[in-house]
Formats: sequence, structure tokens, C-alpha cells
Amino acid sequence: MRADLLSVPGEPDRANEDFAALSPQGAALVLDGVTPPPDGQTGCVHTVTWFVQKLGPALLRRAERRDQSLADCLADAIAQTAAAHESTCDLSHRRTPQATVVALRWDDRQVEYLVLSDSVLLLDVNGAVTPILDGRLDEVTGRPDLRAIRYTRQYFDALESLRNADGGFYTAAADPEVAKRAVTGHLPRAEVRAAAAMSDGATRWTEVFGFGDWAELFTRIEDKGAVQVVDEVRAAETADPDRTAFPRGKSRDDASVVFLQF
Ligand SMILES: [Zn+2]
Repeated sequence: MRADLLSVPGEPDRANEDFAALSPQGAALVLDGVTPPPDGQTGCVHTVTWFVQKLGPALLRRAERRDQSLADCLADAIAQTAAAHESTCDLSHRRTPQATVVALRWDDRQVEYLVLSDSVLLLDVNGAVTPILDGRLDEVTGRPDLRAIRYTRQYFDALESLRNADGGFYTAAADPEVAKRAVTGHLPRAEVRAAAAMSDGATRWTEVFGFGDWAELFTRIEDKGAVQVVDEVRAAETADPDRTAFPRGKSRDDASVVFLQF
């Protein structure tokens, strides 16, 4: 088995709000903490980095034990993380710290996965690169009324109102019930040759800068490594600092890649 793991902040002087991990017990994670607006209240005294570094290890430990589904592991990890700050923070606040999740677990028999929100899992299944996506955020941002005001203040306000709300999209925040909304599944281990889990700071390679499709991104990571792919994203970000050629939320974003070849 071969593995490649990279997780780097968007700016060198800022804390990384992603979390990436690989366990020798056969589990891997990528979490992407959601950055609140700079002037926004969150109801929480903690940072997004604090949140992902609580939720990530809690989820990984449960996944390693193999006595629960990945969705149940996520539900319990959310509950444990909520309990760690419910006495100091207002966890009912819409902007309470929250994260996207990709989880992967494997043994000799099968590969299990879970995807919640806009982090991406690519699986090489019998030689074909297969994206495992939670499309709900894309559905929301693709709505004509939101496309028309993309990346304006009103756009971000509208997105906030659809966060963890019916008809909107879901992230791992303080409510364990959200784990039931995750995209989950499993495949025979013999059919899965390799896997790549990524935060959207890395999938910009495809989704924002258009260097290639999912299969080309997968091949690039496999052939050149995660560092090379994120370097290419960073170069494209640096070449378009005011986000005019390639409209995007943040100029530079935290980027994480976990690549596994079984
Ligand atoms: Zn808190």
C-alpha cells in the first residue's frame, strides 16, 4: 500500500482550518473547517482550527474501532465535540464552527466511504475514476437567483440562510443528526485500486482553474504527488490575486489531499 498526505494553510501566517489524517488501522479523513465571515459572530469562543482538531481525531478513533457505521461514527464524534464546548458556547448559532467531511475505511474485504458537503472523494473503481460527491452545495450555488449575485455580500448572506437548513446543504456542526444526510457507501476492496480525498482548496485544480477533469486530477496526484498538485493551485492563485480571471470565495484556501493506492 502507498499513501501520500498533505494539508497546508492558504496563507503561511494563518492557522490551517483543514484536518487530514491517515490511520494504520485502515482509515483516512479530510475535514475542511468553514471559515466564518471576518465580521461575523459565531456564538463560539473557539477557533475553527480548534473545532476540526477535536472533531477529526474523535471521528478517526471511532472509525478505527470498526464497531459502528461511518455515519454513526460521525454522529458520535459531532456529539463528543459539541459536549466539549456546550457550556461556554451557543451551539444553536448558525455559524457555530462546522466542517465538511470525507471519511474512508478499509479492510481486506471492502472499502467504506462517507462524504458530507463539498470536500471530494475520487475512487479508482476497476480502472475508472469515480467521483463521490455530496452535490447539495453545488445545487444551491447553481440556482439562477444565486448565480446572478455570485460572491457578493448578498450571496454570502443567502448561503448562510441555507446552511444546515431544509432545502439547503449540510455540514458537520453541533447536531449529530446531520450525519444521516451524508453520502455513504461501500465497495469490494478488490474493485478499488486507489482513492483520493481532498478539500476544496485542492479540488480548485479542477473546479476553479480547470487544469483537467476529475480523472486528470487523480492521475496528476498519483503520478506527480500531492505537493505538485497544490503547488500548481498556488501558482494559479498567485497569478490571479484579485480573483477576476477565476472567481472564487477566497484568494488562497487551505488545501488537503490524502491519496491511497491499495
Ligand atoms: Zn466553542
